[in-house]
Amino acid sequence: IKKLPLDRKSKDELYQLSETFNHLMERVETSMKKQRQFISDASHEFKTSLTILEGYTSLIRRWGFEDIDLHKEALTAIHEECLRMKHVTYQLLELADLEHEGQLTLSQFDLVALCKESIHLLQPLSTKETRFIPSEYNLIIEADKLKVKQVILIILDNAMKYSKQHIEIHLTRKESSVCLRMIDDGIGIPAEELPFVFERFYRVDRSRNRQTGGSGLGLSIAKRLIDQHQGTIEIRSELQKGTEVIITLPINRNKPPISS
Ligand code: ADP
Repeated sequence: IKKLPLDRKSKDELYQLSETFNHLMERVETSMKKQRQFISDASHEFKTSLTILEGYTSLIRRWGFEDIDLHKEALTAIHEECLRMKHVTYQLLELADLEHEGQLTLSQFDLVALCKESIHLLQPLSTKETRFIPSEYNLIIEADKLKVKQVILIILDNAMKYSKQHIEIHLTRKESSVCLRMIDDGIGIPAEELPFVFERFYRVDRSRNRQTGGSGLGLSIAKRLIDQHQGTIEIRSELQKGTEVIITLPINRNKPPISS
């Protein structure tokens, strides 16, 4: 992208115009860079999966017909990788939807009940113990129920994947907002990596996260969903101690909370 040369001494209209133009070009350039990075990351993700599929199918073609155990092992690996690709594809489609449309279907619902429902859904898949501590019996908010549930599931799934034993979920009411804190006692995130965890495809440890089935898209989806609700999401973490995800949501969508 070409920029206009700026003559700093001249403060006339032409100078102002060139400055605005250069500023716009910088934004276009940043957006194009992000787009290129996204295409490169998405391609890399699928390339890795395709390499795995190619490897296992070759294995079956060479030895799989004589060695039934190898045949079974390869088919299981192929199946798992297909599921992963499907999951990543759905998440990518969802991100694209969120960026272009982002409509909310608002209704009034009880966030305490929604948290219980989400825990109930994931608990059978995990050996970690989850304790839910709401400050009130009911907490009615106006929001997009499905989207809020999706955020809870993303954060809880991460907490279950990366915690050692315990997860605690606190739900409190503030003046015009609710605060949901999900705390785990897990491996934590290094301080220098924290600023990047909401970026698409960002994984703290690529190889480790591939084993846990992570795509690096969950937190970026959660952040966009919370932004749509005019809420906030923040992560605090200490390596080998644990991670805390703090979400605030306005109780009433027409009255966003006053930021402190
Ligand atoms: P993934 O699908 O890989 O979990 P996310 O976008 O949800 O992707 O998270 C991005 C990365 O942040 C993860 O790959 C993981 O390295 C790190 N992370 C997220 N949540 C936690 C957590 N509770 N404890 C430790 N690391 C976490």
